[in-house]
Amino acid sequence: MSDAIVIGGGMVGAAIAWGLLRQGMGVTVLDGADEAQRAARANFGLVWVQSKGDGLPEYAAWTREGAALWPGFQELLAGQTGVSCGFSAPGGLHLCMSEEELDGRRGLMQRMHNVDGPGAFDMRILDRGELADLLPGIGPEVVGASLCAQDGHASPQGLLLALHRGILAQGGRILSGQEAVALGREAGLWQVETAEARHAAPVLVLAAGTGNLALGRMAGIEIPVSGLKGQILVTERTGPRLPLPTHKVRQTEAGTLLLGDSKEPEAGLDDRSSGAVIADIAARSLKMFPWLSEVNLVRAWGGIRTMTPDSFPVYEAPASLPGLFAANCHSGVTLAAVHALKLAPMIAAGALAPEIAALSSRRFDVPDN
Ligand SMILES: Cc1cc2nc3c(=O)[nH]c(=O)nc-3n(C[C@H](O)[C@H](O)[C@H](O)COP(=O)(O)OP(=O)(O)OC[C@H]3O[C@@H](n4cnc5c(N)ncnc54)[C@H](O)[C@@H]3O)c2cc1C
Repeated sequence: MSDAIVIGGGMVGAAIAWGLLRQGMGVTVLDGADEAQRAARANFGLVWVQSKGDGLPEYAAWTREGAALWPGFQELLAGQTGVSCGFSAPGGLHLCMSEEELDGRRGLMQRMHNVDGPGAFDMRILDRGELADLLPGIGPEVVGASLCAQDGHASPQGLLLALHRGILAQGGRILSGQEAVALGREAGLWQVETAEARHAAPVLVLAAGTGNLALGRMAGIEIPVSGLKGQILVTERTGPRLPLPTHKVRQTEAGTLLLGDSKEPEAGLDDRSSGAVIADIAARSLKMFPWLSEVNLVRAWGGIRTMTPDSFPVYEAPASLPGLFAANCHSGVTLAAVHALKLAPMIAAGALAPEIAALSSRRFDVPDN
């Protein structure tokens, strides 16, 4: 028996569980085994604001709030666990390889500036000259970039470790290798069965990434999520080369460079690296930064993103299923702080606030005629 069961100990479930514990709830996290697919361990680590929410202003506002909460969130986690999330927000660049792409960023900037929301939104377009001053060594095909002051990056491994340690430090339980195989509701409590045990709680949070499709059906709701494969390359450590992250190449605190990332809808749930995609990513990265030819690649990985039909998050609290909540998004690092510090308190209070009502999957229920 707990106050809340969270299914999924990835970036989304761990952030929510940590936040529920801060609200004084007793929390059990049920997670997959070590070899389970986890987007949380495969991602690029951007805390990215500039392009988030184009077409859904509530998501843009939610993202901006999440980025603004990140510094305090990192401080709380470090104070509690001693683990650094490696977060910094020096601004972020989207490099453009054609005038057409740069025009597209101008249009995006216009639309994003029109979104109301907390915090100033500071995005501007840099021509090639301005960009070269900021980032020496760009390739001849780079025509310019969009720069957003709110963008940043973090260490996904540090974040996940800090969240897991923070959950344990607050008295929460993380049960690994305990996949939920059946869900039900009895006498006002949610019952979750694993191969080994039965758990019960008045509050159940489904935060199992792509696993939410099956779990939602067990609980009686349709959560429209699917997987989208992405691959990333990692170089050896180098001295400081990139003072700020770009959307496709960033330098980690440790000095390695991450080169990303593919989008492979046809790959299904196969998360293995593949030679052709590695070659594509390397070639595109070299066009952006020709000096990368002097740096050795040391590693590559693949992962499966959790996507919704319009790529915006889905948060559910169906009125017909009291105590049930579901959360899915494809930007679990960007939104970690807002999940921990805003979404979790809403769940603890028993209802999602109107500010995120637009992020329910009801937005897909459009009549045919
Ligand atoms: C290539 C790539 C690049 C990315 N880049 C970024 C980025 O730059 N910035 C950013 O913000 N995000 C990025 N992401 C996305 C980010 O990693 C995800 O948003 C985040 O990890 C999703 O978290 P999640 O907890 O929903 O899912 P996951 O991390 O996949 O975790 C789901 C967890 O649920 C568990 N589970 C599943 N089914 C069950 C079950 N039945 N019972 C118990 N447990 C279960 C699994 O074991 C797993 O641990 C990227 C992802 C990929 C793949």
